[in-house]
Amino acid sequence: MPRVYAIANQKGGVGKTTTVVNLGAYLAARNQRVLLIDMDPQANATSSLGIDRYNVTRSIYHALLQDTPLVQTILLNNHLNLAIAPSSLDLAGAEVELVTLLGREFRLREALAPVRDRYDYVLIDCPPSLGLLTINALAAADGVLVPVQCEYLPLEGLSMLTRTIDLVRARLNPSLAIAGLIMTMFDARTNLSQEVLEDVRAHFPEALFDAVIPRSVRLREAPSHGLTIRQYAPVSPGALAYQALADEVLRRDTGLRHPATEAVPHE
Ligand code: ATP
Ligand code: MG
Repeated sequence: MPRVYAIANQKGGVGKTTTVVNLGAYLAARNQRVLLIDMDPQANATSSLGIDRYNVTRSIYHALLQDTPLVQTILLNNHLNLAIAPSSLDLAGAEVELVTLLGREFRLREALAPVRDRYDYVLIDCPPSLGLLTINALAAADGVLVPVQCEYLPLEGLSMLTRTIDLVRARLNPSLAIAGLIMTMFDARTNLSQEVLEDVRAHFPEALFDAVIPRSVRLREAPSHGLTIRQYAPVSPGALAYQALADEVLRRDTGLRHPATEAVPHE
């Protein structure tokens, strides 16, 4: 069973794209077959993998709105063994164009259906809004991963996101749930980072990942070189944190997938 995760938070700049790209790179490093889907018109996930967004001729836009089979949009990064359905500039109009379409919330789910079994993980990068592109991602996903920036008290924004997830679960996708919260841009030198971490831990004790992503210059630089942190600075703290996150995701999912094969301690 492939795991389809929407990486969502309507707040901008919290680390959604950074998480999609680098979590994807480290899941691929663990021999997982990974597909990234760039649902953001900003196309930052696409360009983070070194793909020129202005040269993309078939993108997720065409799969959502022009019935292009999703498989025909997918580009493969051979070095990382990482596949991506890229975004393109056309996607900026998609929110509006989707409105009048029949089954407008399910376009991504339908586009993904024929290929999802080819992957162990599908990670969907959402734009910073709760519009139809994000709703399509939530309707297609098994779970939501929520990056939370350690620099702002996030609970109000999170309650808006959880309300949207509740609505999607009630109307569109009964099995949807928050699969995990990921603290990003953690700065050990500030009280605020610690405060935000404790606040989120108190409200979401189960969902919060142990792996905390530090604020890191290397993580910020890597996308401008079209590289993941695994390529750009593989022994930096940010790289190690995303590697730890990937391993934690795998542990959680393996636990979910094969409960019967968990080692039973002997007396
Ligand atoms: P948007 O809502 O615009 O799509 P986003 O939630 O996808 O934003 P990112 O693009 O991943 O957020 O990150 C926002 C900016 O912060 C980028 O310049 C990115 O390189 C930088 N950044 C992300 N994570 C970190 C980090 N842990 N340390 C330092 N900089 C980071
Ligand atoms: Mg982004």
